Amino acid sequence: MRLLVVEDDRDINRQLVAALQGAGYAVDRAFDGEEGQFLGETEPYDAVVLDIGLPKVDGVSVLEAWRRAGKTMPVLILTARDRWSDKVRGIDAGADDYVAKPFHMEEVLARLRALLRRVAGHATSEIVIGPVALDARGGRVSVSGEPLKLTSHEYRLLSYLMHNAERVVSRSEIVEHLYDQDFDRDSNTIEVFVGRLRRKLGVDLIETVRGLGYRVAAKTAKT
Ligand code: CA
Repeated sequence: MRLLVVEDDRDINRQLVAALQGAGYAVDRAFDGEEGQFLGETEPYDAVVLDIGLPKVDGVSVLEAWRRAGKTMPVLILTARDRWSDKVRGIDAGADDYVAKPFHMEEVLARLRALLRRVAGHATSEIVIGPVALDARGGRVSVSGEPLKLTSHEYRLLSYLMHNAERVVSRSEIVEHLYDQDFDRDSNTIEVFVGRLRRKLGVDLIETVRGLGYRVAAKTAKT
């Protein structure tokens, strides 16, 4: 899962990025509305944390521009405490949720998890497909009840595929959703990652769709 943080306060931006990376997401950052708007229009984010009070272009205008351009990724806005009008304007502009400043990082993380799983059509933070269970809250994976140790890249890959179950996901899409923009991306490495992940899982979860990419089928996972 790849996220974008748009926040002009350098400390808050850094804290958000660190916490999100620590939770296993690839994260890009922007420090003003112009840069943020551009990234949101050109890069495929799974969710965005957007401050409302931003230099150059304010957060509500950024969000309106994204929605006008047909961008549907979930957006969590950060509002100043007691500015209820910001929340109303933000939600009217297409925000999916909000957190008021000052916030607890855990709340931001929980709200993002909820937005991401709602997009994937899941009601709880655990996704279970066949014998494989992925707990997005704890960042844990188990197979037939046995905990499985994955690297952060393997976890991201599995999480992305399981959040997009039943859909064929191409290698280039995986690359775009697994790495931040500073990463040296190479879609050939995806094959290597998938191979390693399959061996670790030891179950038939990730199907190769020749010429198109990969698919996790919700009902066909076999032990
Ligand atoms: Ca601000």
